[in-house]
Amino acid sequence: MSETIFSKIINRELSADIVYEDDDILAFRDISPQAPVHVLVIPKVKIATVNDIQPVHAELIGNMVLVAQKIARQEGIDEDGYRLVINCNQHGGQEVYHIHLHLMGGHQLGGLS
Ligand code: 5GP
Repeated sequence: MSETIFSKIINRELSADIVYEDDDILAFRDISPQAPVHVLVIPKVKIATVNDIQPVHAELIGNMVLVAQKIARQEGIDEDGYRLVINCNQHGGQEVYHIHLHLMGGHQLGGLS
């Protein structure tokens, strides 16, 4: 499977503002934030799109949500609220083909379009 920019961040070939790391998951600030807090939570294993998630990944995907919850608390946006988004393929607006959970918050977010 071809390498993405996120593989380079995982391998420390490209720098990023990392806010969380464990054996399976990395989280870092989006380079082009769409909200005051905009963090990307990614699995270290390459899964290209939501369509490629398998039952064996269920715990990993659940843990990504728990990591996002923890970061939201750390960033102080948990009580006001935030949004979690995973874009899939062209119509979903996916640009990087290594799945990532967008955690966005810190101000009132607009409606989904
Ligand atoms: P997608 O559109 O695939 O759901 O989101 C990809 C996200 O990755 C975008 O929000 C974009 O700003 C972010 N991004 C792209 N390249 C880089 C990078 O090199 N570093 C970081 N931190 N974020 C990136």
